[in-house]
Amino acid sequence: MRDRRIGVYPGTFDPVTNGHMDIISRATHVVDHLVIGVAANAGKDPLFSLDERVQMLEEQVSRVTNGDGSEMEVVPFNQLLMNFVDALGAKVILRGLRAVSDFEYEFQMAAVNARLNDRVETVFLMASENHQFIASRFVKEVARLGGDISKFVPKEIERRTVQKLRDTGDLMTHED
Ligand code: ADP
Repeated sequence: MRDRRIGVYPGTFDPVTNGHMDIISRATHVVDHLVIGVAANAGKDPLFSLDERVQMLEEQVSRVTNGDGSEMEVVPFNQLLMNFVDALGAKVILRGLRAVSDFEYEFQMAAVNARLNDRVETVFLMASENHQFIASRFVKEVARLGGDISKFVPKEIERRTVQKLRDTGDLMTHED
């Protein structure tokens, strides 16, 4: 029997969206063991803490029915991606590709990672058409302005995002 193929899907997941969930369920068809790597990414000034992002993902991932019998786990990391991937014994990095706008950044990142370790391949997956345009950044912006984000994120994530923006005083009200 061949070795189990381990893949890492890294991201900030601030918060997890239907787009991410689409990629996660596709990724389970590509690898036997999927590690969803949650980057601390303090530089991006995330809305949710690392612990919150991990916990929200764990909740959502537990709902994914996994017909292939592949395994999934959510693991935070705060180091060079390639070191994280190596320590896990993973051979594949999975990334999602949205429109052309993602291409340049993803292309550069894949090239840098290939230079760091040429035994690890980056594989790009595309979400379904109705999930392709979803981005955490827009979800937060729409929610902040009081818009409806229910089509972009799972129900519980919608609730937590609105609550978080309220707690941080960032939710615009009609009086603003
Ligand atoms: P990062 O900070 O690394 O860009 P994100 O959480 O924004 O992390 O995204 C993680 C990965 O998921 C990236 O490869 C990104 O392109 C991909 N992704 C995010 N949203 C979508 C989507 N709607 N469709 C396809 N891929 C997506």
